[in-house]
Amino acid sequence: MGNPISREQFLERARSRFGEKYDYSRIIYKSYKTPVKIRCRIHPVKEISITPEKHLQTTGGCKFCLREMRIQMLERELQRHSAVHPPLQPASAEAPLEVKDPGR
Ligand SMILES: [Zn+2]
Repeated sequence: MGNPISREQFLERARSRFGEKYDYSRIIYKSYKTPVKIRCRIHPVKEISITPEKHLQTTGGCKFCLREMRIQMLERELQRHSAVHPPLQPASAEAPLEVKDPGR
């Protein structure tokens, strides 16, 4: 990965990946590895500080979206299993979120 990614390239990639899901209007782009502040349009309660690199590599950095995504996956999983076995314990719904600190 030689070429540093410019602000325009980052925005282009981010938009092609996430569409209008995140608000990039407030970012101050320094480098690909310097955290910027973005906002999830669905969950604008909390500004997300994340490096452009991480943003493009992950689900974007919104832990609320991540949680919803995991719950959906879990429910799908449970439905598939409950067709064969009755659900045992819903304890896995409490699975800890592993959101890595985007600052490093
Ligand atoms: Zn979100």
